[in-house]
This record gives sequence, C-alpha cells and structure tokens, in this order.
Amino acid sequence: MNKRVEFPVVPLDDPFGKPLLSLVVPLYNERPMLPLFFERVLPVLATLDLHWEIVLIDDGSDDGSAQYIRSVIDRTSGVRLVKLSRNFGKEAAMTAGLEHANGDAVIVLDADLQDPPEQIPAMVESWQSGVDVVLMQRRSRAGETAFKRWSAHLFYRLLNRTSRTNIPVDTGDFRLMSRKAVNALLGLKERNRYMKGLFAWIGMPTQVIQYDREPRAAGETKWDYPGLVGLALEGLTSFSISPLRWATLIGLIAASMGAVFGAWIVVKALMLGDATSGYPSLVAIISFLGGIQLMSVGIVGEYVGKTYMESKQRPVYLTDEVIENLSGTRQQAH
Ligand code: UDP
Ligand code: MG
Repeated sequence: MNKRVEFPVVPLDDPFGKPLLSLVVPLYNERPMLPLFFERVLPVLATLDLHWEIVLIDDGSDDGSAQYIRSVIDRTSGVRLVKLSRNFGKEAAMTAGLEHANGDAVIVLDADLQDPPEQIPAMVESWQSGVDVVLMQRRSRAGETAFKRWSAHLFYRLLNRTSRTNIPVDTGDFRLMSRKAVNALLGLKERNRYMKGLFAWIGMPTQVIQYDREPRAAGETKWDYPGLVGLALEGLTSFSISPLRWATLIGLIAASMGAVFGAWIVVKALMLGDATSGYPSLVAIISFLGGIQLMSVGIVGEYVGKTYMESKQRPVYLTDEVIENLSGTRQQAH
C-alpha cells in the first residue's frame, strides 16, 4: 500500500511563460486510493506543456489520508494540502479547493479516479481554444447500479423542468474552469452550496466533452441514498421556488374539490333528505387535506430553513491547516 511514487521534479526555469493549471481534489477517507491517484495523475500532468499544482482538500478524513499526503508533499513541490477542521461535505470541500487554487485554469476531479485523469489534456486543449468551461459529460456510468442511474436521470429532468438555470444532464463536478469562471463562482456567497447548480448558474462559453465514467478504483462511495435524497432536495430548493407554487396549486385543487363535494352533500340532503351518511367520506377528506397541509408546510419549511441557515452568515468551511512544500523548486512538466 505504501508504494513509493516517483515524481518528476524539475527546477522552475520559466516562471511566467506558461499558464498554471490547478487540480482541485476533494477527498474524504480515500487513503486506499491515494497512491493510485498520484500514480495515474502525475504521468498525465508530465505530458502537459504547463505549470501545474495539485490542491487536495482533506474533508475531515480520519483514515490517515492527510498523513499520506504529507509524506508526498515532503518529497515534492506542486502539491498542496488544505485540511478542513472536520467533514463539511463535498460541496464545501470543492469551494475550499477553488479558493485555494491559484491556477489560470482549474480542474475539479474526484480522488477515487472515477473521473479519468487521462481526459485532462483534452480539457486543457479545449480551454486553450478559448472556452471558459469544459464540461465532462458521462457517456456511461460503469460500476453504478441501474437504480442509481435511473434516479439520477429522473432527478436531472425534474430539476431542469422546475428551474430556469439549465443544469446539464449527466454532468458531475468533473470539469475545467478558467480563472474568470472560478472567480465568478467564488463571487456567489450563498452558504448552501449546491455546486452543480452554481456551476450552471454562471453560464459562460462552454464546451462539452463526453467520457466514460469508470467504477471506483478502491474504497467505497461516500454517498448513501438518504444523502443523495438530501442533495437532490438541496438542488431543487436552491435553484427553484416552483415547489412553493406546487404546494399552492395542490392546495387550491384540494380545496375546490372539498367545496364541490360539500355543495353536493348539501344538495343531496335537501333533495333526498339523506343527511346522516358520510362518516367514511369525512375521514377521507380530513386525511387528504391534512396530508396536503403537512406537505405544504414541509415545503415552506424547507425554504424557511434555508433562509435561516443563510442568515447566520457562517463560513462554508473552516481550514485547520494548509501544508505545502516551499522548497524553491516547482513542479514542471515537459
Ligand atoms: N468527498 C468529500 N467529502 C465528503 C464526501 C465525499 O470530499 O463528505 C469526496 C470523495 O472523497 C471523492 C468525491 O468527493 O473524492 C466523490 O465522492 P464519492 O466517490 O463518494 O461519490 P460518488 O462518486 O459515488 O458520487
Ligand atoms: Mg466516486
């Protein structure tokens, strides 16, 4: 597991000539992945005619990920570790990474190698041809269950029907952003950071590249279904207020149905003198209306809660420490 990875360290001979590419890598308990990660990413970076840095964000790992990265940093420059004070979640970790990246272009990629680093040269090429955002769209999702694929598909459709920000289908967080795009993103100060939505909100000239998503190379996914449902709710309520309208609409429909039914009972009693039956229908109506009210209050509560969280003005994350090797040489690829 502790296999030594060789890094091509070259003294910096051309500090200003070439642009700097930052890789932002959020990670939470990815210790088994890390040697593989460096093994696959570094050779790719070595082929690029760019300066580069890797910004790893340790999102409160407790499996020794940070110690391993420290040992890598001891041996090389160009790698920076931003250690958060606890687990803040991937969205906050990405925000931290973007804030700590200095690159003229920034690529966000997962530590589990599901976002193949071999795509980086193509992304850089697109960026150098003039676009601000290079979106990586999954052609396939190996290693994910049919149910996860289906629910992800459904979620994107629902999100895009309810919000004016068009969030591209089948794209994740794997993407390249120019400095301009990163600065725009960092200008969005909301605390509830649904990154896919924020990425889409900034717009800017975008190119889409398709790739095949790989299964996780080691370890296991940090998302469980309750977590994903939470993220989905976050996405829906951060980028759309139409659920509030649905609540109003459903309430209206239910109330009119109740009114019509009530009128019909009165008419029926007057015409047929049949005033007493109706206990089952009462129960049905009460539970129907009660359900709708609860649901509507829940939807409103979701937004009220959001407003409350925003109003506290807490930072999105807290940094414990930033570790890098300032030995004077800089990682350079040829
Ligand atoms: N991650 C993180 N903080 C978290 C959960 C996940 O930084 O609280 C990182 C994780 O280490 C990985 C990336 O986010 O690099 C994607 O997570 P994962 O592979 O578990 O998600 P999936 O690919 O299954 O959507
Ligand atoms: Mg993954």
